[in-house]
Amino acid sequence: MAISDESIIDVTPKPMHAAEAIFLPAIAKGLGTTFRHLFGNITKPGKNKDNIYVVQYPEEKRDDRPVVEGGQERSTFRGVHRLNKDEDDRVRCVACFMCATACPANCIHITAEESPWDDREKYPKQFDIDELRCIYCGMCEEACPCDAIELTPFYEVTGMSRQELIFDKTKLLEVYDQTIEEKPM
Ligand code: SF4
Ligand code: SF4
Repeated sequence: MAISDESIIDVTPKPMHAAEAIFLPAIAKGLGTTFRHLFGNITKPGKNKDNIYVVQYPEEKRDDRPVVEGGQERSTFRGVHRLNKDEDDRVRCVACFMCATACPANCIHITAEESPWDDREKYPKQFDIDELRCIYCGMCEEACPCDAIELTPFYEVTGMSRQELIFDKTKLLEVYDQTIEEKPM
């Protein structure tokens, strides 16, 4: 089929004049945008006219993180992990290694042991997650067959050493206790 002349768009760049050739207008325009944002954010924090949300962290924190509506509100924000407990206050994990296998960052390390309880074969003797290596993708909680591992709304991960940010089983169970109100099972 022949293409009509009206359908053809000429994309040959227009020749630049002298100022454009040394990028002066583009530099001035870019600096204008930078200073507009700078002064706007200093004088009027919050959502600015470009819909960019600015808060004075850590004094202010965002309270508009995503939640699932309907039934029970559950935060869908992916922060640090927790290991969930069952109704008898035991770790729910059955040491199946599904989460560690699914993890693309290879940051979950589990040592399994024979379970002291009759309702399961194994439980995690040791369960470590390197929170600095994690990319917070949520694959571990998707892979878990018994809802034992979850990402929580907590995101303030700070510490003085890398070792502190490898969360062990005790720490992960503590996070469960701290977040159960904010993110119920
Ligand atoms: S959130 Fe993703 S990267 Fe982090 S531990 Fe889970 S699977 Fe691994
Ligand atoms: S947290 Fe879940 S997926 Fe990971 S080992 Fe325990 S039971 Fe398996």
